[in-house]
Amino acid sequence: MYDKNNVFAKILAKQIPAKIVYEDDECLAFHDINPISKIHVLVITKGEYTDFSDFVCNSNPGESERFFHSVEKVVQTLNLGKSGYRLLTNTGEDARQEVLHFHMHILGGEKLGI
Ligand code: 5GP
Repeated sequence: MYDKNNVFAKILAKQIPAKIVYEDDECLAFHDINPISKIHVLVITKGEYTDFSDFVCNSNPGESERFFHSVEKVVQTLNLGKSGYRLLTNTGEDARQEVLHFHMHILGGEKLGI
């Protein structure tokens, strides 16, 4: 079940501030509060999906494709196209997903560990 009080829902509602790098009708990208790499940005859907599987199975036609194009726009905005980057999404307990609102991590800006 999607929890409307999760921290990313509060960021979307502008109840919690965030350092925003990109926004469109369907997603918002902002810097992670606790970065694990020099550049660590989160791209979240504006739709209420708990995780990757929920998003892929229950989003509107074309929404997941548009989301990936938005992620690519953020990658370009961050100027990571040439140097490279890592996309990561955690789902569920074993992956230690902390915030149950679907999001993609963009990691880069330095050589990443494995
Ligand atoms: P997850 O483990 O769910 O994939 O990642 C959640 C991420 O959200 C973590 O990297 C964590 O640092 C980040 N995060 C948690 N709370 C906040 C917040 O209030 N603001 C921002 N900008 N990031 C947050």
